[in-house]
Amino acid sequence: MNVDISKILKANGESLDFEIEKNITDIENYPDVCEFLSPVKVEGTVTNFEGEFLVEAKGSTTVVMNCSRCLKPTTVDVKFGIKENFSNTGKEETETFLGDTIDLTSIVGRSILIGLPMKVVCDEDCKGLCPICGKDLNEGDCECDTTYIDPRFESLRSLFKLDEEV
Ligand SMILES: [Zn+2]
Ligand SMILES: [Zn+2]
Repeated sequence: MNVDISKILKANGESLDFEIEKNITDIENYPDVCEFLSPVKVEGTVTNFEGEFLVEAKGSTTVVMNCSRCLKPTTVDVKFGIKENFSNTGKEETETFLGDTIDLTSIVGRSILIGLPMKVVCDEDCKGLCPICGKDLNEGDCECDTTYIDPRFESLRSLFKLDEEV
């Protein structure tokens, strides 16, 4: 995701607008993402501040993630912001660029990761899967007995069981 800054490379105080788009097919770096449904779009400005280049941009994309309760693939809109200094002098606390091109690939990748929700639900009311048989409870109830058993009663019950066996 390259931004050509040759026009402002030597022009202190000048800025330029850019718009880039990229399809992401390699999802290895995005552990919870099943698929990118739309290209990543990044729109912003680069400004030359005495040889340092401030990139300010907004980005967006759409991904598919699994519902954390029922595992159903769920569409998630991801939005992120970028504000980062780039320099070609190896100065600390700035990102580095070479020549007259700023490569935003890694900062965009990091920003997407930060922009991803921790937990996705297909619906606020999603009932999830039955912990016993795994049935999707949004499609109806199952026969499993999932009523909570108080551990104290459970031990009482096993006592009775012992009595029965004697
Ligand atoms: Zn769900
Ligand atoms: Zn069940």
